[in-house]
Amino acid sequence: MTNKHQGSCLCGRVKYELSGDFQSFFLCHCTRCQKDTGSAHAANLFAKASTLTWLQGESDVKTYQHLNSMHAKSFCQICGSALPTIAESINSVVVPAGSLDSVISIEPTAKIFVSSCVNWFRYLDNVPNYEELPEQVNN
Ligand SMILES: [Zn+2]
Ligand SMILES: [Zn+2]
Repeated sequence: MTNKHQGSCLCGRVKYELSGDFQSFFLCHCTRCQKDTGSAHAANLFAKASTLTWLQGESDVKTYQHLNSMHAKSFCQICGSALPTIAESINSVVVPAGSLDSVISIEPTAKIFVSSCVNWFRYLDNVPNYEELPEQVNN
């Protein structure tokens, strides 16, 4: 039996289902992923020989292919959320972890391109944690 995974974008127009298994889960710190995500790293799951089905909103999905590279990003044209991309060169579907609504069953495999890691992400142990939005942020 094939495992199924479901996901969606923030505005809810796009929903998808993936039939297959994740073999790897990479946190990528490369400079392209920094621009692409607006954050310190991307978090992408890779599923070989799997089937991606758009359950709804396929016409709102746009894919950006970066020139002269394998870097691609699919996103919802309405809300900008990251969505899965088919990477034909490696016969895999690349799934942004945050787009999944179903539970992710594998642990991150590795951090990659850490030589490009931004300095503010390296030492976060002393940064305070809050369960939700703290009071002082509202002031
Ligand atoms: Zn959306
Ligand atoms: Zn990257």
